[in-house]
Amino acid sequence: MALKTYFIETWGCQMNVLDSQHLEGLLRARGLEPAGDAVEADVTLLNTCAVREKAVQKVASRLGELRQARQAGGKPGVIGLCGCVAEQDGARLLARSNALSFVLGPGKMSQLGGALDAVEAGQRPSVTGFGATRDYDAHLIARPAGGRQFVTAIHGCSQHCTFCVVPYTRGHEVSRPLAEIVAEVREVATAGGREVTLLGQTINAYRCPATGADFGDLLRAAAQAPGLWRLQYVTSHPKFFTDGMIAKMAGIERVGSYLHVPFQSGADTILRRMHRGYSGAEYVALAARLRSAMPRVSLSTDVIVGFPGETEDDFERTLALVEEVRFSQLFGFVYSPRPKTPAARYEGRISRALAHSRIERLFAAQSAIQLELNQGLIGRDVEVLVDGPARRGTTQWQGRGDDNRVVNFSGWDGIAAGALAEITITGATPHALLGERRAPVARRPAPSA
Ligand code: SAM
Repeated sequence: MALKTYFIETWGCQMNVLDSQHLEGLLRARGLEPAGDAVEADVTLLNTCAVREKAVQKVASRLGELRQARQAGGKPGVIGLCGCVAEQDGARLLARSNALSFVLGPGKMSQLGGALDAVEAGQRPSVTGFGATRDYDAHLIARPAGGRQFVTAIHGCSQHCTFCVVPYTRGHEVSRPLAEIVAEVREVATAGGREVTLLGQTINAYRCPATGADFGDLLRAAAQAPGLWRLQYVTSHPKFFTDGMIAKMAGIERVGSYLHVPFQSGADTILRRMHRGYSGAEYVALAARLRSAMPRVSLSTDVIVGFPGETEDDFERTLALVEEVRFSQLFGFVYSPRPKTPAARYEGRISRALAHSRIERLFAAQSAIQLELNQGLIGRDVEVLVDGPARRGTTQWQGRGDDNRVVNFSGWDGIAAGALAEITITGATPHALLGERRAPVARRPAPSA
């Protein structure tokens, strides 16, 4: 079996996006070339997400589609299941579906070559689990063109929030050494990465295993990378901010003004049952501390609606927190029970209809806030990192400011993805700003180390 081409489908979070780049690098190092689609590729990888319900059903139905389409074209090919569903349910899916050739968990990505060798020898391997350390070969990551890049700072998660499957699918938390992370950020910036996002499930819990340096120290060192425009980071956990850390963060010019801090619920009873480690009032006080230290900061958040036992009063506390803090972005999720998690066994399930009506109310409240906040920016000049054309067939471009707001702008022929554009904001919707070109921005000089 000569394997010459590949295609990777990526579902889920930024970590999965980066993992897919890693998998792609491993395939290229083996001599494979990209294929046009999943059906014609010799090797198709499904890099999956297990955070919410129906993950396994989604994989099963995609496998069915691929099997049919490939058989019709006379091409069985190799299909590998990667990512969090692979870790959570891969062995079962391998036994159930003969469309699947192998399974590779997020802790075993570097063994992709061995798995393909085994497939070529007629086996169907399942490679999952986690070691004390994690493999991460920065040089093998196939980074796409464009100015926005990711770098892992922490693997896994040890928080065990009662709703969350991540500690089971990505293993316990392991921080990478600060020197390795900084070296990677420098390489990425030298190669044209203007904005680097450091990734970790609880990024502000970072501790360098070699020196004990904390997250503020990591930001300070990484932000020095020559050529870097902005350093971003996700996801921060409310309980790990300290005054010292906030002071360090506030003093770094190149740290973006976007801060993603999930609060999950405004009700203390629910927060306790989620094992989040803070109260609603403590979250509101934290938001005020962050804003007083970093007046330009745009706070964004995650919220779960319909957690077991959530009463109307609990939900109204969530709405009240949203009204009080006024986030620039909010990602809302209907609670879904996940395997192995304590909350999956909690009593007081909320009906889907009620949970959906609550999330609609949440989105309506947030949308009004976002529109007001965005309208308040009309007339401002902002710097935007360009991602590409806004839509096919238009002359509009799209990018994001350093506060992560989407900006659609026109009047700039010949601009390219990865460029910085100086834009005047002329209009606003709840989910995007509209703008016009100002003058081109000169490349910033590198800071002295
Ligand atoms: N580690 C981060 C934290 O603890 O805040 C976020 C990680 S999670 C991959 C992203 C978001 O998905 C969470 O913040 C939460 O709002 C949502 N989420 C996680 N598990 C969920 C579940 N079982 N049901 C619904 N939403 C969930």
